[in-house]
Amino acid sequence: MAPVRIFSIASDETPLLAASLGTSPSAGAIAATVAAAAVLAAGAYAYAGMWPTSQLFGRCVVAAKRPTQIALTYDDGPNDPDTFRLLEVLARHEVRATFFMIGRFVRQRPEIARAVAAAGHLIGNHTMTHPLLLVRTPRIVRQQLRDCNAALEDALGTPVRWFRPPHGGRRPDVLRAARELGLTPVLWNAMGYDWKPTTPEAVERNILRGFRKNLRRGFATNALLHDGGQAGMGQDRRHTIAATDRLITTWKNEFAQRGEVCEFVTPEAWV
Ligand SMILES: [Zn+2]
Repeated sequence: MAPVRIFSIASDETPLLAASLGTSPSAGAIAATVAAAAVLAAGAYAYAGMWPTSQLFGRCVVAAKRPTQIALTYDDGPNDPDTFRLLEVLARHEVRATFFMIGRFVRQRPEIARAVAAAGHLIGNHTMTHPLLLVRTPRIVRQQLRDCNAALEDALGTPVRWFRPPHGGRRPDVLRAARELGLTPVLWNAMGYDWKPTTPEAVERNILRGFRKNLRRGFATNALLHDGGQAGMGQDRRHTIAATDRLITTWKNEFAQRGEVCEFVTPEAWV
C-alpha cells in the first residue's frame, strides 16, 4: 500500500488512496479523513500533554521575559553521592537552584533532602515513583502527588509549593490535582539530555542551545538537568555536575562581556 499522506486527503489523490484501501472512493475518503483526524488529534493531544512549553492543558510556569535570568533545575533526586557533589558546586558559585524530588527516594534518604533545603535551594514535588501521569487514572495521579508531598513534608517540615510532572506528561486533571494541593506546575525550556551517562561537554552544549534560543526570543532560561535517576539511588550524574560548573562560568562571563549580570533564580521569580 502506498504511504498515507494525511495532508493530501482532500486533493485529487483521494481516489488513489481509496483504491489502495480497497474500498469505494467515498468510503475510502471517509476512512482516510477519520484516520487523519485521529492522527492530528493524537498529535495535538501529545503536544498539549507532553511538549514542555505548551499551555493548552492549563497554565504551567516555564520562564518570564527576562533574558538575563536562569533557573537551574534538577530532577529525579535525592541521589547519593551525586546530589551532595552538586551541592558543593552550587555553593562554590553561590548559586541557588531548584530540585524536583522523587518521593520514594526522599523516604529512603531524607537527610539528603534536608541537606538540599539547608543549603537554601528550592524543593519541589516530582511524584512518589515517577510514572507518566498522562496515562494514569485520576486516583493514581492524586495519590502520587499526595504521597510525594507527605514524604517531603515529613523530611523538611515545610509545605511543598512546586511540582514538575515526570517526563513533562500532564492532562487538565493532573494540573487540577496539583493546584488542589497548592502546587504550581513547572516545566522547562532548555534540556541537558543528561539522564544517562554522557559527557559534560554534551550536556553544556545541549543547555546552551536552548539558552541561545530563549535569548533570541527574549526569555529567561529554565534548564532541565538531573541530579538523580528514577531507576534508583546511586545513579552516576558526574557529567551533570561538571556541566553545571562549566555552565555557570560560561553564563557569568558571557553576560559580563555584554555589561550585564546573569541572575540565577528559581521559578518563584516568575509567578
Ligand atoms: Zn524525572
